[in-house]
Amino acid sequence: MKQYKKKQERRNILRAGISLASAPLLGSLVSCSREQPDLKVQEAQDAAQVTQAPPTLLPTEALNDRVILVSGAPGNVLALETDNGQVLIDSGSATMAPSVQLTLQESLDDSTVHTLINTHYHTDQSGGNALFGEAGAAIHSHEITRQWLSSDHYIPAEERWFSALPVIGRPTHTFRDKEEMTAGAESIEFGYLLEAHTRGDTYVFLRDSNILAVGDVASPLRDPALDWYAGGWLGGRVDAMDDLLEVANADTLIVPAYGPVMTLAEYQAERDMMWHLWERCSTLVNNGRSAQDILDTGVMGEIDRTFDDPYKFLYDTAKGLWAHYTNFGGNVV
Ligand SMILES: [Zn+2]
Repeated sequence: MKQYKKKQERRNILRAGISLASAPLLGSLVSCSREQPDLKVQEAQDAAQVTQAPPTLLPTEALNDRVILVSGAPGNVLALETDNGQVLIDSGSATMAPSVQLTLQESLDDSTVHTLINTHYHTDQSGGNALFGEAGAAIHSHEITRQWLSSDHYIPAEERWFSALPVIGRPTHTFRDKEEMTAGAESIEFGYLLEAHTRGDTYVFLRDSNILAVGDVASPLRDPALDWYAGGWLGGRVDAMDDLLEVANADTLIVPAYGPVMTLAEYQAERDMMWHLWERCSTLVNNGRSAQDILDTGVMGEIDRTFDDPYKFLYDTAKGLWAHYTNFGGNVV
C-alpha cells in the first residue's frame, strides 16, 4: 500500500525511546512568547463548572450483557462490568463526570470503577479522571497522554491555558506500544496509534466482546479533528485507521469518542474518505497551497459528507502536513 515514506523510520525512532517534541516542551515554548494567566484562577473556574449542575442520568446502550455505552458525557464512555467492579474507557468531561458516575451506579450491579483507560488527553475524555481516581481507580494511558495531563499547556484553538490535572487524576500506569490485561472474562488489548488525532492516541479492544474503542481516531458525528499542536496529522490518521482494520473484523462494534457505534463498513467508508483527503491535500500542500487554496479547489465537495467547518479541517490538515513534510517527501518550507 502506498504510504508516506518515513513511517517506519519514525516508528523505529519512537521504539528506540528517542521521543519527538513532547507536551511539556511545547508548553514551555509557548510560555516563552505569551504571558501565562493565573492558573489558580483557571482551576477555580474549572472547579466551579463541576459544581454548576446536579448530576443527571445519561443515555445508555447495552452492547452485550457486560458492556454498556454511556453517551452525552459529552462524548462516549464505555463501561465493562466484571465480578469486582468496572473497567471504564474514558471518563467524560469534568462537568459531566458526576453524571457518568450516577449513570453507572444506576445501570450496573457494582459501580466501583477499578480501572480507567484514557484514549487520549483531551478534556472531554479525561476530565473525570480525578473523580474516578479519588474513588480508587487505576488510570492507564499512553505515556505521552500522561505527559500532557501532568503539564500545564496552552490550547491554541481555544486560546486558553489548561492546568495540569491534580495528581489523583493523572495516569498511574503507562505504556508505549501495546498492553494486555484481563478483567473478569474479558481479555483487553490496548495499543498506540501514532499521531492520528493527538500524539498519545490509544485504542482499547475488548477481545472477547469484540468491541473496539477508538477514541477520536474515528469521527462519524463531528468533523474529524487533527490536533496538530499535539502531533496529530492526516498521514498519521490514515495509518492508524489502517492499523485498526487489522484489529477489527466484520462483526466488531467500533466505538468512537462521539456518535453512534460504527460497523466495520461504516468505519471503512470513513477511512476511505480520509485516504482521499490525504491524497489530495498532501499533494496540494506539497505544491505550496494554503488551506483557503485547497478549499477553493472544491476538494471538500469530492467526499460523501458535509463538514460543519471545512476550512478549520483544512487549516489543521495543512498545519499538520507542514509539521511532517519530511514524512511524505514534501518540499514545503
Ligand atoms: Zn479528542
